[in-house]
Amino acid sequence: MQKVAYWKEDLDLNYLAIYRASLADGVGWRTVLFVSGCHHHCKECHNKESWNPNAGRPFTEKTKQYLFDCMTDQIDGLTISGGDPLYRTNIKTVTELCKEFKEKFPNKTIWLYTGNLYRDSKDLEVMKYVDVVVDGEFRADLKDTTLAFRGSSNQRIIDTHTGKVLKTQ
Ligand code: SF4
Repeated sequence: MQKVAYWKEDLDLNYLAIYRASLADGVGWRTVLFVSGCHHHCKECHNKESWNPNAGRPFTEKTKQYLFDCMTDQIDGLTISGGDPLYRTNIKTVTELCKEFKEKFPNKTIWLYTGNLYRDSKDLEVMKYVDVVVDGEFRADLKDTTLAFRGSSNQRIIDTHTGKVLKTQ
């Protein structure tokens, strides 16, 4: 595979898309933020554009307010996907976003997708605010289109409150 090197100095978050209401990115109706920046470079990644942390547009106060405005009674929570929300220059803003989200919407959930393993990320501050993590790199050899909310069978859906792997099929 061709090696691609990206670099970013600042901690400003970029994002590629927001879905106002999705049923495919976690349990219930969810607003989904797709951030830029991912160092995993999985073979057959569905969105290689997201590897570049400079791709897309800046995540601003206005963007954050838009996400909050999406949180109507019909929406169960926020999903942060990518890219990787835990990419080194994303973590600061993603943590601040999750913290503020939980202060405003304590009864709504946050799902976070990362190529990292949960055991390597569970002590990050952001995990205090995240309810469910879908962890692990996408493995093309373990791809399974029948799985809910994940692309390959090595990826796990983990309740951060209990540390237990959730069964979703
Ligand atoms: S972790 Fe996700 S976004 Fe990153 S390379 Fe793998 S499949 Fe693509």
